[in-house]
Amino acid sequence: MNIILLGPPGAGKGTQASFLVEDRGMIQLSTGDMLREAKSSGTEMGQRVAEVMARGELVTDEIVIGLIEEKLNSAAGNGFIFDGFPRTLAQADALGALLEKTGQTLDHVIELQVDDEILVDRIVGRAEAAAAAGQPVRADDNAESLKFRLMEYYKKTSPLIGYYYAKGDLKAVDGLGEIDTVRADIAKILG
Ligand code: ADP
Repeated sequence: MNIILLGPPGAGKGTQASFLVEDRGMIQLSTGDMLREAKSSGTEMGQRVAEVMARGELVTDEIVIGLIEEKLNSAAGNGFIFDGFPRTLAQADALGALLEKTGQTLDHVIELQVDDEILVDRIVGRAEAAAAAGQPVRADDNAESLKFRLMEYYKKTSPLIGYYYAKGDLKAVDGLGEIDTVRADIAKILG
């Protein structure tokens, strides 16, 4: 079973993906994590990507589609969780084509619904908690980048909600509930 977790920055996609890895042995494919790895690799491409990410802009479709394509050719295990991908209609089309080419299906698109005010609090809170614990703070977890990330989400990613609704794949979950309630709601959808 392959699924997409869809929602704005701070909606809880990464948290819920890690539960699915734990509960079902699925493989989490987070393009954000992959891009941060590319950054720490110190290559010129990694450096360029890091600058785009720090501003809260989207990285080019070509780069992220390439990253996903590489992973799709590896073992699928108990299915993939696409976390933070696709983020544009072009990425959604590319994912559909890649899955078809490798004989795989897309089974559910789960939209985590949250209020915008909550997102700002969550992300600023995440940055403050990391800083207080002496952990690294993401370069894009500040109020200015966050505003940009939200704009990018509404302009480029939110049309995917309609796209997957029309395909009949979309399931909405209330992302404002307790973490374990959201976890249970997702489990119910996946069966
Ligand atoms: P969040 O969901 O909290 O914004 P992510 O780790 O998913 O965090 O993404 C961080 C940044 O990485 C994005 O703001 C963007 O710059 C880049 N990125 C991640 N996934 C994609 C993607 N599919 N397409 C383009 N850019 C991406």
